[in-house]
Amino acid sequence: GKSFKSNKKFIFIPWNKDQWKLGFDNFVSRGPSNMRFISTRGKIKSASLTEAILHGLASDGGLFVPEFWPSLTIEKDWHQLSFSELAYRTLIPFFQNDPLGLALEEICNEAFNFPVVLKYLPNNTAVLELFHGPTCAFKDFGARFLALCLKSVLNPLSRQPMVLVATSGDTGGAVASAFSECTDIPVTILYPKGMISGRQEIQLTSWGQQVHAFAVRGSFDHCQKIVKEAFASEWWQKNFQLISANSINIGRLFPQMAYYAYASLQFQHRHKKTPGFIIPSGNLGNSVAALWARKMGFPIKKIIFAHNMNKSVPNYFSSGSWTPLPTVSTLANAMDVGNPSNIERVNHLFPDLTELKKFASAQSVSDDEIQECIRHGKKTWGQIWCPHTATAVFLREQMLQNIPWIIVATAHPAKFETIVEPLIGEKIPLPKSLERILHLPCSSTEIKPTLGDLTADLTKRVKAI
Ligand SMILES: *Cc1c(COP(=O)(O)O)cnc(C)c1O
Repeated sequence: GKSFKSNKKFIFIPWNKDQWKLGFDNFVSRGPSNMRFISTRGKIKSASLTEAILHGLASDGGLFVPEFWPSLTIEKDWHQLSFSELAYRTLIPFFQNDPLGLALEEICNEAFNFPVVLKYLPNNTAVLELFHGPTCAFKDFGARFLALCLKSVLNPLSRQPMVLVATSGDTGGAVASAFSECTDIPVTILYPKGMISGRQEIQLTSWGQQVHAFAVRGSFDHCQKIVKEAFASEWWQKNFQLISANSINIGRLFPQMAYYAYASLQFQHRHKKTPGFIIPSGNLGNSVAALWARKMGFPIKKIIFAHNMNKSVPNYFSSGSWTPLPTVSTLANAMDVGNPSNIERVNHLFPDLTELKKFASAQSVSDDEIQECIRHGKKTWGQIWCPHTATAVFLREQMLQNIPWIIVATAHPAKFETIVEPLIGEKIPLPKSLERILHLPCSSTEIKPTLGDLTADLTKRVKAI
C-alpha cells in the first residue's frame, strides 16, 4: 500500500523507521516497569499503551483498563496550572515508558487549544462547560487527543491509515474535526440519513476531501454493522490500516480524566470544600473518566450519573443486577444507549456494587423533566441548557444543598436549537465555531446499508485521488 506522510503541523514522532523495523515489542519492552493495559475480560496478555490505542478494543472483546493505579502526588499549587499542564501531569504516569510518553506534553498543548470553563452559580453549584471546542461538545477533548496520539504512533511503513466511524450524531463531528485539523489521516463516517439534526449533519459533511461522509439509507445500527463488517473484512484489512475512533478507545478516556482533575482542584481551592459531580451519561465514558480521576486522588466527593429514559444503569444501581435494555429515543439523543459498553470498566473497578454506591448513584430523567428544566433555566440559573446537560441540572435541583455540586455541561445548547429555542422563546447566540461552518459547502454520498456499496464508492474515490 501507499506509505503515509504527514505534512500538517509538526508533532514529535517518537518512532523512526529503524525502530519500526526492529519490531514493536523489541522497542516497547525495553523500558523498566512499564505501565501495561489489561482487558476487562481478562483473556489476553497485557498490552502497551500504544497497542491499546491502536487496537481500540481488546481482542477478547473486552475494554482496556490500566493494570494498576499509579501513585500520583497532587501538589498544593496544582490549581494554578493551565489545563494542558495539569492534563500532562495527571496522565504522564500512564504514559511513562511508552513511546507516546515522549509526545504527551506536546499532544496536550495541541489538543486542548480551547478553554475549559468552570462557572460558579448560586446555591453551592458550579457548571463545568466542556463545549468550547470546535464541535461544541465534550467529545472534542477525547477526539483531538486520540487523533494526535495516533498521529504519533502510526507506522509510516504500513498500509494507508483510515479512520472508520459510525455515528448517531456527536461523535462523528468531533472525530472528523479532530482528524482533519490535527492530522492527514483520512476519515470515513457513516451516519443514518435523515436521522440527525441539520447542524450535526453540517459538522459531519463540511470538512472537504479528507473526510468522506456517507448518508446510509438505514439506522445507526446499520451504520455500526457496516463498520464492524469492514473491520472483519480481508479486503479492507489488506488495503487499509483501519483505525477505530469510537468512544471505547482508552485514548479518548484519558483526557476526560483531566477535566475532572482540573475542576475539582479549582473548586476546592476557591470554596475550601470537596465537590461532587453530576454527569449526563450514555455510554458511560465520561462517568468512567470521573471514577478514574477520583481513584487517582483528586478531590471528588460524590458522583451522580444522570441518564435519560434509557434506564439500564439506574436499574442496576437499584436492583443490583445488570440487564441491558433496547435503546429508546429521547430529547437527549447522544445519551440514547440501552447497553452502555463502559459498564465493563465500571464493574472492573468496582466488582462490588456496594462499594460504588458509597459515593455514587444513578438516576433517570424524563423528556418532560428535561423540557421543564430548559424552560426555567434562565430564571433559576441564568443559563440556557442543552437537553443533555438538563438531565444533570434537573437532578441538582432535586438535591439538598449540603454538598457543593458541579454540573457537567456536555454540549452547547445551540447544537440542539430546534429543541431548546421553542422552550425558551428566544434565539440562542451561535458560538463562533458553529457560525464558521454553517456556510461551508457540504458533501456526502448516499449509499444503501451494505458494506459492498461503501467499498464500491470508496474504491472509485481512492483511484480518483
Ligand atoms: C456523548 C454525549 C453524552 C454521553 O456521554 P458518555 O460518555 O457516552 O456517557 C452526553 N452528552 C453529550 C452532549 C454527548 O455528546
